[in-house]
Amino acid sequence: MAEKRDYYEVLGVAKNATADEIKKAYRKKAIQYHPDKYSDKPESEQKAAEEKFKEAAEAYDVLSDDKKRQLYDAYGHNMGPQGFGGGGGGSYGGFGGFGGGGFTMEDIFTHFGDIFGDAFQGAGQYRSSGGRTRRPVNKGTDLRITVKVNLKDIAGGVDKKLKIPKFVACQQCNGTGAKNGTAFRTCQRCGGTGYVTQMRQTFLGAQQIQSICPECNGEGKIISEECPHCHGTGVEKKETIVEFRIPAGVQDGQTLVLKGEGNAPRHGGVNGDLLIVIQEEKNSELIRDGQDLIYNLMLDFPTAALGGSAEIPLVDGKARVKIAAGTQPGKVLRLRGKGLPAFQNEHVKGDILVNVMVYVPENLSEGEKSAIESLKDSSNIVPTESTSKRIFSRLRHIFNKENRGE
Ligand SMILES: [Zn+2]
Ligand SMILES: [Zn+2]
Repeated sequence: MAEKRDYYEVLGVAKNATADEIKKAYRKKAIQYHPDKYSDKPESEQKAAEEKFKEAAEAYDVLSDDKKRQLYDAYGHNMGPQGFGGGGGGSYGGFGGFGGGGFTMEDIFTHFGDIFGDAFQGAGQYRSSGGRTRRPVNKGTDLRITVKVNLKDIAGGVDKKLKIPKFVACQQCNGTGAKNGTAFRTCQRCGGTGYVTQMRQTFLGAQQIQSICPECNGEGKIISEECPHCHGTGVEKKETIVEFRIPAGVQDGQTLVLKGEGNAPRHGGVNGDLLIVIQEEKNSELIRDGQDLIYNLMLDFPTAALGGSAEIPLVDGKARVKIAAGTQPGKVLRLRGKGLPAFQNEHVKGDILVNVMVYVPENLSEGEKSAIESLKDSSNIVPTESTSKRIFSRLRHIFNKENRGE
C-alpha cells in the first residue's frame, strides 16, 4: 500500500487550521477534483481525479470531526491504541460505521454533498442534495433490436418504421401504479421523506447513517389502492410504432442508441433506451471493404486483348466502363466516389474497385483449339522477360495490398 499522505497536507492547511479553514480547503479540493469535471477526460485522468477526490474526502472526514482530529493529531494514521481501525489497515477507513473499506463516491456525496452548495447541480450520477441519500432516478430497461440494411440503405441512409412491443407508462394511472394516479398514502416509516436515519455505534462514537427507506423504496409514499389496469406496476406492454432514421455509412454490428425509446420503468421515471444493432445484408456482387466496394470482373479473352467495354454494377444502377486493349488480369479500375459515404460525413465517399480477371477458356472445340494452337508461336502472344517485368511492376498490388489501384 502506498504511504498515506498527511491529512493536513492533503487539504493544504496548517496544523492549527480552524474548522472553517478546513471546510473551505476541502470544498476547493472537492470542486477541483469533482468527477463531473473529468467526465470527458481519459479514463486514467478520471481515476487519478477520483483518487484525489476520495483522499480529500477522507482527510475532511477526520479533520472536520473534533474527536477524530484529536485522535489523528495524537496518533497519526496508525491510530495508536490496539483494537482501533475497522479494516485492520490501521487507517480511519472512511466513515466510522462503514468499516475499513475506504469511501465510495456514493458515500462522499451522501455525507458531504452539501459542501458543493450550488456549484454542481445534479452532479451526474452522484446527487448532492443537502447531503441526503436520494433514491436514484428510476430508469426503464433498454431494448435491443436488430435491423437489416442493404448497400443502398447504407449508401443513402434509410427511414425505418417498426412496431416494437415495449413497456409504456400506464395511461390509467399516469405510470404511478395507484388508482387514478392519486390513491397514495404517506409512508409511515420515513414520514414521506424517502430516507431513514440510523444510529450506529463505532469506536469514534455514534454515527448517523442515512439510507433509502426500505418500506417505500425511497418514494416517500405507498400505494393505498392499486390501479386495476396495470395492477400497481405503473406500466403496460404495448405494441408501439417507433420511427427513426438509420444514417448513411453505418457498418455491420454498429449500435445506434435512441434515447428514451426503451421500456418505461415501474412507478414512473426515465425510459430506457432503444439499441438498434445494424446487420448488413451481403450484396451478391459488391464486396464491402470499409467505404470501398470491390467488384470482381471476369473479362473474356478477346475483350481483354482487343479492348471494348464492360458493365459494372453500382450500389444503385449500373455503369459501363471502357476496357483498353491489352488489359491484364489483376488490373484494378477505380470508379471514384461510387463507394459508400463515411458515417456522419456523407460527403466523403469511397470508390468502387473493379478487380479485373481474364477468363481462360476451359472447354474448347477442335476449331478453337487449332486457332489458339496457331497463335502459340507468335512473338506477340508469348510474353518476353521484359514484358513480364513491365506488367508485374504495374500490378504490384497483387503482392502488396497497400498499393491497390492506380
Ligand atoms: Zn418510506
Ligand atoms: Zn395503471
